[in-house]
Amino acid sequence: MKKIVLASKNLDKVKEIRLVLKNFPFEIFSLADFPNLPDAVEDGATFEENALIKAKFFREQTGHACLADDSGLEVDALDKLPGVHSARFAGYHADDKTNNQKLLDELKKIGVTESPAAYRCALAFVDTDGTQLLAEGKIFGKIKIVAQGSGGFGYDPYFYIDDTRTMAQLSVDEKNLISHRGAALKEMILKLKEKVFVSRKEGSRAD
Ligand code: IMP
Repeated sequence: MKKIVLASKNLDKVKEIRLVLKNFPFEIFSLADFPNLPDAVEDGATFEENALIKAKFFREQTGHACLADDSGLEVDALDKLPGVHSARFAGYHADDKTNNQKLLDELKKIGVTESPAAYRCALAFVDTDGTQLLAEGKIFGKIKIVAQGSGGFGYDPYFYIDDTRTMAQLSVDEKNLISHRGAALKEMILKLKEKVFVSRKEGSRAD
């Protein structure tokens, strides 16, 4: 069976992606299975560039096909910040709690209690033969300064998908149905079916 490495150290992202790929003929690994690898240098200017940087880097490091995600939150009132800096909005050692506090602080500074916002996700797949596939997904919603829910991760308790519910109030399955990552995965799966599984039947590689 084809081996694929989910090139993310974020266990919540890996959980969401695994669930969508569970019926695919992949043997799925994550970076937790390769504990001593260095970090990729995510210095791209866009989600897409960073996803490709990670997929290429970990494809080299592990020797297996890699699927990488780069994603983040864009808040209109903050000129689309934190954007590609979402994971480290509050600094190098930031975590979800400090990033959320920074988000609230930045909104407070400009006297805003809610703002239109979007989550964006870019996925990059790099195969052992160098084949590269890209997919993107987006969800529009609102950031409000009142947190709700304990599911999901990152900015989810502040990301309202409608007037009353945040992303943190959904199950993983429900989140995948509507989320930026779910949409990007849907597009990626179509591309994998077209470019990877079809050619595998013809070529039957075992990597
Ligand atoms: P990356 O690992 O460099 O792509 O950073 C992604 C960061 O964006 C995460 O650490 C979160 O702060 C944020 N993010 C991405 N996707 C989500 C999501 O589905 N929910 C909440 N926050 C997210």
